Amino acid sequence: MAERRHPNQVVPLMLAPWLLVVAVMSMLLLLGGQLWLSYRDQVNTAEISAYNLAALFEARFEARLRQIDAELIALRRDISADVLRPGAVVRHRTGMNASLERRMINRDDMVGYRVVDAGGNLLYFSGALDISRMNVVDRSYFRQLREDPSDRLVISEVLAGRGVRKDVLVLARGLRNDKGDFLGVVYGSIDLGFYRRQFSALELGHYGLIALRRDDHSLVIRSPDLPGDVNTALPSEHPVVRRLALPERLTTLHYEAAPDYVPRIMSIVRMRDFPFYFAVGLGKNEVLEVWYQQVVGVVVSAAMVFTLLGVLLMRLRRAQAHQQQVLSELAVSESQFRELTQLVPVGIARFDDAGNCTYVNDRCAAIAGRNREEMTGSDWTGFVHREDRSGLPRRSMVGRILQRPYACELRFVQPGGTLAYVQVEIRAGVASDGSVQGYLAALTDITQRKRTEAELLEAKQRAENADLGKTRFLAAASHDLRQPIQAINLFLDALRRTDLSPEQKAIADFLSRSGHALSELLYSLLDLSKLDSGQIKPQPRCVELEEIFRAIDAEFSTLARQKNLRFKLFFPFAPTVLFIDTGLLMSIVRNLIDNALKYTERGGVLVGARKRRGRMVIQVWDTGVGIDPRDGDRIFEESYQVSDSVLDRSKGLGLGLTIARRMAQLLECELSYRSRPGQGSVFEVMLPAYEIPVAAAIPAIKPVASVPRGVDESLLAGWSVVVVEDDPMVAKAIELSLDEFGVSTQLYDSAERALGAQAVLAADFYLSDLNLPGMDGMAFLTAVQERRTTPVQAVLMTGEALRREIIAASSPWPVLLKPVEMVDLLAAMSVAARNGIDRQALVG
Ligand code: ADP
Repeated sequence: MAERRHPNQVVPLMLAPWLLVVAVMSMLLLLGGQLWLSYRDQVNTAEISAYNLAALFEARFEARLRQIDAELIALRRDISADVLRPGAVVRHRTGMNASLERRMINRDDMVGYRVVDAGGNLLYFSGALDISRMNVVDRSYFRQLREDPSDRLVISEVLAGRGVRKDVLVLARGLRNDKGDFLGVVYGSIDLGFYRRQFSALELGHYGLIALRRDDHSLVIRSPDLPGDVNTALPSEHPVVRRLALPERLTTLHYEAAPDYVPRIMSIVRMRDFPFYFAVGLGKNEVLEVWYQQVVGVVVSAAMVFTLLGVLLMRLRRAQAHQQQVLSELAVSESQFRELTQLVPVGIARFDDAGNCTYVNDRCAAIAGRNREEMTGSDWTGFVHREDRSGLPRRSMVGRILQRPYACELRFVQPGGTLAYVQVEIRAGVASDGSVQGYLAALTDITQRKRTEAELLEAKQRAENADLGKTRFLAAASHDLRQPIQAINLFLDALRRTDLSPEQKAIADFLSRSGHALSELLYSLLDLSKLDSGQIKPQPRCVELEEIFRAIDAEFSTLARQKNLRFKLFFPFAPTVLFIDTGLLMSIVRNLIDNALKYTERGGVLVGARKRRGRMVIQVWDTGVGIDPRDGDRIFEESYQVSDSVLDRSKGLGLGLTIARRMAQLLECELSYRSRPGQGSVFEVMLPAYEIPVAAAIPAIKPVASVPRGVDESLLAGWSVVVVEDDPMVAKAIELSLDEFGVSTQLYDSAERALGAQAVLAADFYLSDLNLPGMDGMAFLTAVQERRTTPVQAVLMTGEALRREIIAASSPWPVLLKPVEMVDLLAAMSVAARNGIDRQALVG
């Protein structure tokens, strides 16, 4: 989170415009230099070629002048005064002319040599043309030579040749005798046309020129020709005139001047010995034509390059602007992120490979009990409790952390020694190239949670203790409540069998009904509380279906008969073994039959069992009031009773079906019903599909005895029954009840006392409480069995439902739950009595 720039990215973009400008400038300089060099090169070449031409012509022309002058000097020497006399001409003309003609051999640039006398008359001449009558006395060179006694060469201005019709330049020397008298002139005429032709044969371009001028700048020949300018001097302000004011022999200048004002490069070479100079000029624009093309090319390419660069720069600027924007957005988001990290209730730390913090937020610092400055830069593991350091990720775990965050719980030791419990999640920061760039840790302070957990644990412990207390209380309450209720019921039953007035009988009946309802309610409430606390755990065992039906028959046939209802049982003939918790199944079925009998006034009840799709279904049919379809499944809800219940509240509290369904759920059975109001209902329990292991099933199948049809009172008459019960009220109630059936009872309040009496072993039947002071009921019956040869027929009683379930699973004797209903007790005794008869029959 430290502010960082990306060096490879930002800086080049910042520098790029400057670099571009520098690059462009250097390129421009380079191109300029190149162009300049190329310019210089072109100009130099032009200057040199102009100079070469000028020098060449100068050298040749000067040589020619010198030759002609030498010829003239030779001629002058050869010509005697004699041949100049008027009379001698005819005589000498042929010889003289021939001698002059000889001098003309290979002299293409010459018009001819001539000799004139002191009067200017032509005496001798070369060439075939007869020009003998010609006179040159009007020519300036003649007059100069005549006037000037010095022996010098005179060169004329450009003259129109007489007789030859050519422009000529005359080189003349005077002829004088020894006394210095002027005798005439000998001269040679140079054919300027010859040079003009040579000049025009030169390739000097459109604006090129070559000129021969005298030192006074008067024009001799020029190409291109300017006939009007011949012998005319250049104006004094002409650049050439000004330049030639300097005493140089060779010079080059660039100028533009009249008449055409064409810029030119001009090379001038002055003759050494003659007053002439050659000037060769080249049109500067022509010279630089290629250069101009180059310039245009360069300018166009430069323009293109500039445009390109401009576009590039613009893009660069845009990219820069974009980058700036991105950077500023990044800065904003980073600052927001920082603020966020400060706002979140989670500690955030970033640390490098070595474990040194590069960033921590306030929360993180607070968790560690330090300030941010103190933490930044220091090894964060130093704040962790020594014992917890082994749980920190090691360097070798990087690969794993890359795949998923590393989570652990550890303790921070704050400066005061206080411990902060922290949940840490560490993630690796991965750069775009996949390398690990430090780590990010999110720290959650779980000290409070830990504290709460500890408190919760304590509270749970307390609650469990309390629950245990409640369970104990329930157990105690069930025991303590069952006893008096059982006593009340037994007393009431006994009371009803005494001689009572009809009014008393009615009250006693009512009391008895209420008592039974009370005991039922107690059962239900206890069952429900046990179901609620999850105390009831099904303990399936193998049981024969017929056994269940026999129990049902024993329990309900009498009741049905009392209500004037038919009571039928129907189950498969073939022995069928179920693997189920019999106690719970019986509770369910009992409940359903109870209801059926309760809500049926006419007709009867049928309990049946059949197989449906491989599963056993137990059904309870009745011809009772039925259930309104609108009630639907609500009848299974707690305390739900149909609103227009024809029956009074004393019949039940609406808990029976709730309990039945809860138990059915425990057994994984499905409990459902169908009903037609006014016609009756059928409730059915569909048992889970199961397979009985054959080996387990065999011992459970007991020999089938005929199903007892209710309690046969006659069988019990004259029986002696031993009752071991520590509650004297219950014992008394039992004694009174049994007395009704002609059964004699021996009451004992402890097993030890019962075993002490000799008569005990001879009893027909034993009825013992399970919970006795000292030896318990089970041990008592076992002790009796050990001392007897015949099987002990007995029933155990207990107030603790749980204990009953446990004992019932292993006990050879039925275990009844208190408060024991007389009907149940008698039913059990009847079964025992019938077994006794069967046995006697077998023995007999
Ligand atoms: P209760 O203790 O009132 O019988 P239950 O939970 O056993 O409570 O039954 C709930 C209600 O369902 C009963 O009040 C009764 O109206 C109706 N009911 C249950 N079984 C039958 C039945 N076999 N015939 C008609 N009504 C029944």
